[in-house]
Amino acid sequence: MRKGTKSIVILGGGTAGWIAANSLATHWQDRDLDITLVESPDIGIIGVGEGSTPPLRNFLHNIGVGESDWMGRCDATYKTGITFRNWSTKLGFDEYFHPFQCQPDDFTVPAFFHNSFLRRQGVDLDGHPSQFFLAWHLALQRLAPVAPPNFPFRMSYGYHFNSGLLGKFLQEWASKKGVKYRQATVTDVVLDDQGYIDFLKTDSEETIKADFYVDSSGFRSRLLQEALGVPFESCEDVLFNDSAVVFPTEPDENPQPQTISTALKYGWAWKIPLTSRFGNGYVYSSRYVDDDDAEMEFRQHLGLVDADIEARRLKFPVGRVREHWVKNCLAVGLSQGFIEPLEATALDMVQETVFRFVEAANNGDMTDKHRNEFNEYVDRRFDAVRDYIVCHYRINTRDDTDYWRDAGTNEKISQSLREILTVWLQGKNITDELERQNLDAYFPSMSWNCLLAGKGIFPTDEQVRPGNELANKYNLKNIEKYLKGCALNFPPHHEQLRSLSNAGD
Ligand SMILES: Cc1cc2nc3c(=O)[nH]c(=O)nc-3n(C[C@H](O)[C@H](O)[C@H](O)COP(=O)(O)OP(=O)(O)OC[C@H]3O[C@@H](n4cnc5c(N)ncnc54)[C@H](O)[C@@H]3O)c2cc1C
Repeated sequence: MRKGTKSIVILGGGTAGWIAANSLATHWQDRDLDITLVESPDIGIIGVGEGSTPPLRNFLHNIGVGESDWMGRCDATYKTGITFRNWSTKLGFDEYFHPFQCQPDDFTVPAFFHNSFLRRQGVDLDGHPSQFFLAWHLALQRLAPVAPPNFPFRMSYGYHFNSGLLGKFLQEWASKKGVKYRQATVTDVVLDDQGYIDFLKTDSEETIKADFYVDSSGFRSRLLQEALGVPFESCEDVLFNDSAVVFPTEPDENPQPQTISTALKYGWAWKIPLTSRFGNGYVYSSRYVDDDDAEMEFRQHLGLVDADIEARRLKFPVGRVREHWVKNCLAVGLSQGFIEPLEATALDMVQETVFRFVEAANNGDMTDKHRNEFNEYVDRRFDAVRDYIVCHYRINTRDDTDYWRDAGTNEKISQSLREILTVWLQGKNITDELERQNLDAYFPSMSWNCLLAGKGIFPTDEQVRPGNELANKYNLKNIEKYLKGCALNFPPHHEQLRSLSNAGD
């Protein structure tokens, strides 16, 4: 963005475009800035992306949206974490829970770290993660993670929602903040003599001109990749999935507040509870299975072989652009890249990209130095997320298809991930390693411990020796009692959802 920017055009009205619109309008509400979002009436949104991480809560709070404003309207439910099922064949590790860590866990996480650390050193201790987290108890007991006013600890949680409805809600919210909306399909992008975007041609006579452009045009990346020619760096050599098949199923009246990720023969399936339905999708690799066979496998998994429900099929590239902000264009959302949705991190990336962009713009008035630092930061974030996701595949122990065997022996993983795995396998301190690599801001040590311990990357039962008194210092029954006691404070999930919908009427 050049000095004196007065107008911004956001191209694309998917979730990314509307998050960007609301963020920019909120952060720069005191600037004399004209923000317009342009969306094609003919090109739809991707229509998936129904699970979030906790930062979505901060985003909504920052733009002034309360839970009773949006949750009922978007069929939303709470999310305390993700259960990963059938990723490991190790006895006792067929599933584990990756929680959003809450403050009450501060008393139990040291026990998890202690047990998992000593187990790696060959001491006979239970290092399975799920039992150490309040979020797991809330998920199993179908309780909403919303603390009553007298509960003295901070909670952390995400949401599930209908992405189309959330987009519509955010559109209305943005219009209250003064964001203008136009429908048009951009057919051509005209650059000026310095290679900046000058104006956009549309399918009508009209052209669209702004000082700065946000490209939220989805996988098309109409501005950044197509017009400005910014290269896309694929990571298909470490993440094989490039396809998905999607089905709705009947809702549960009182759903567990969690996403379930179940490994299948050529990928994994998500199950996301909304108030109106379950969203289900099978993410797989077309290199290993054709689309019809994948759909059949998924139908079998859901018990829908004969059901008259049409599946939606999607293709996607995995990777990221080399630079996210180039000249007078910032790419946000699928246009800047996509790491598959295993940990539901895409919207977090959208928020972070816009937030850092605003920060860079405010700090440096758009100099090259600030732009370069911004691009490096976003690249690093993408790569850190990629490595965490790749680790899921690299440490899988399934042996039923070439897909899982190839993923489990893939030597193309990054040096950074190789070093993390080495530290874990050598029984050393993984928290120190993440700090050394400056990675703890992306997925914290807790998440890495859950992933590696949850898949049973430990010496086997035959290889371990009994622990002494010091090793056995944590009593798991007391931990369970404490967390179940905490859980007594929380309301049933469906009651909390109902009260929000009533409040929003
Ligand atoms: C299988 C799958 C599962 C996913 N699951 C999750 C998840 O659980 N959690 C999560 O956070 N994310 C998830 N994602 C990612 C998530 O769906 C996206 O990050 C999110 O929906 C934002 O998409 P978008 O707005 O970038 O693009 P889109 O939704 O594709 O929107 C693109 C917009 O650009 C417009 N457009 C395109 N070309 C033009 C043009 N020439 N002229 C005018 N307008 C144009 C379109 O009309 C549309 O409005 C998933 C993605 C996939 C593929």
